[in-house]
Amino acid sequence: MTLQKGLIQVYTGNGKGKTTAALGQGLRSCGRGLTVYMVQFLKSGDTGELHSIEKLQPYFKIFRFERERGFFWTLNAQEKQELKEDIERGFDFIKETVKKNSCDILIIDELLGVLGNKLLDVNEVVAMLKSKPETMEIIVTGRNAPKEILDAADLVTEMREVKHYFNAGVPARVGIEE
Ligand code: ATP
Ligand code: MG
Repeated sequence: MTLQKGLIQVYTGNGKGKTTAALGQGLRSCGRGLTVYMVQFLKSGDTGELHSIEKLQPYFKIFRFERERGFFWTLNAQEKQELKEDIERGFDFIKETVKKNSCDILIIDELLGVLGNKLLDVNEVVAMLKSKPETMEIIVTGRNAPKEILDAADLVTEMREVKHYFNAGVPARVGIEE
């Protein structure tokens, strides 16, 4: 099947649940026979969803374009430049996907983190969103959504942190966050 009209969704905010909500949406759509692509930015380590989605081939695919690196703020100028190049390759893939209409649901995880760190130009991203095929749904995640992205979106959900165990010293756990 294909959607009659695809929309643009944004999952943002400081609370937990952005990436997992996008994965949940992808899982539901996949069950109806829609093909799902998820491009994950700013994530290079092993995470549980890679293994789950392996079982849903060829209907749900995850794509990454970055070599393994530390957190953005730990990188030197050269490493930041390399990261920028990796992300530009990812964005080229996204533009190609949109142009060729290669999937029904396109999830761009941490697109907002990429914009926040000035690793892509927001106007180019908005142009990509506006050029999407009628039937394609695009979902973007990350904190601090810029106004240009909020304006382009049809749906914005803010995950608000009421309480998070991270602040009590519980780091990311394999099986929950990874
Ligand atoms: P999930 O992937 O569980 O849905 P998310 O996509 O909403 O979470 P991100 O902003 O992508 O969350 O970052 C998740 C990482 O940041 C986790 O490793 C977590 O331990 C850490 N973290 C620290 N504070 C928070 C917070 N308030 N909300 C979510 N994650 C947090
Ligand atoms: Mg996330």
